[in-house]
Amino acid sequence: MKVKDGIIGLIVGDALGVPVEFTTRREREADPVTDMREYGTYDQPKGTWSDDSSMTIATMASITHRQKIDYEDIMKEFLNWAYLDDYTNSASGTFDMENTTSRSLRRYADGAPALKSGGTGERDNGNGSLMRILPLAFIKDIDYDTVEAVSSLTHAHEISRTACALYVEIAKSMIENDLEIKEHIDNACDKIKEHYKDSEVLGKFERIFSNDLDDVRGRSFVVGSLECVIHCMLTTDSYRSAVLKAVNFGEDTDTTAAICGGLAGIYYGYDSIPQDWVNSITCIEEVKSLCAKYEKFCDEG
Ligand SMILES: [Mg+2]
Repeated sequence: MKVKDGIIGLIVGDALGVPVEFTTRREREADPVTDMREYGTYDQPKGTWSDDSSMTIATMASITHRQKIDYEDIMKEFLNWAYLDDYTNSASGTFDMENTTSRSLRRYADGAPALKSGGTGERDNGNGSLMRILPLAFIKDIDYDTVEAVSSLTHAHEISRTACALYVEIAKSMIENDLEIKEHIDNACDKIKEHYKDSEVLGKFERIFSNDLDDVRGRSFVVGSLECVIHCMLTTDSYRSAVLKAVNFGEDTDTTAAICGGLAGIYYGYDSIPQDWVNSITCIEEVKSLCAKYEKFCDEG
């Protein structure tokens, strides 16, 4: 089941990164993460996921419930996460919310339409929509406009929207075809270069297009984040080694590993995810059940 492969892959990556978010690469080199940890940055028990997983799950819950992509409803579920602690598996509720997301949700709560709530500034290009866009990759015939619109709920700048389109295209290639990782990435890049050939921001993705990724970091800037994830996928050969490499870049560890874990889960499959990591995630059975319902929607839609 591809939905479970990708979504559990994303959540496990997130939970691996949570205890060491904001640590430096040097700290991680001195003390690399090799297994699921507990406490640390947010003082959360082992297996706690953060905003990345919560917003991903909220998106799937909305689409499953409405049986379609309803932008207003997705935003309502984001509010339920942000203000009512829905879709969290932490006893202390919601933690770790990105600034652009926080401002967008406030605009929506104050009455802005869903598609006018997202940040449009150059600085609104953190990885906050990239980290939650994976569910769209499982929907048959998903188009770029819809991917961009779902990004725009919080991250409406062209750079973020294009990054989401590229990521979804890579994931779709992995879902639909049996190829090497490099071939999936090249295929997706070719499609994005063609579709966005007149875009002024396409140059931002040049390092990805030309596979010039030897100097990546675990940054929260959306393109930097995607560069790091693609580098981790291209230089490892298992789910475990891909997500650990992402975490051990330091900085935005949970999100880098979540974005990487989504692709690695799809590519290597659910059975490749260390089962003791999966079993450490609180509420994992509820997530698996939602994945099954979401896959049914995708198959029938
Ligand atoms: Mg997070």
